[in-house]
Amino acid sequence: MERPVDPPARCPVCDTVYDSVSRHGEGDGLVVNLRVNRRYARVCFDPVTVDGSARVDFYHHTHAQVGRSEPPSDRTVLPAGGVGADDR
Ligand SMILES: [Zn+2]
Repeated sequence: MERPVDPPARCPVCDTVYDSVSRHGEGDGLVVNLRVNRRYARVCFDPVTVDGSARVDFYHHTHAQVGRSEPPSDRTVLPAGGVGADDR
């Protein structure tokens, strides 16, 4: 995994501030966990080309950065229907 040398101040995908950015390229392989995450509300993916090679920059947004005051509780579970355990 790499780090962009001069990343923008705001995410180029959603124009929101972000917590961190990482760059992934050929041969890195990666897994995106779609479960509820206490630290990050979302990750935006920005495909870029570096020295003629394809890369993907990951912009990590915290819950506060996307306007959510509270991260989900550890007990919140989102089944296929999208209803959290705390909503019942
Ligand atoms: Zn974003």
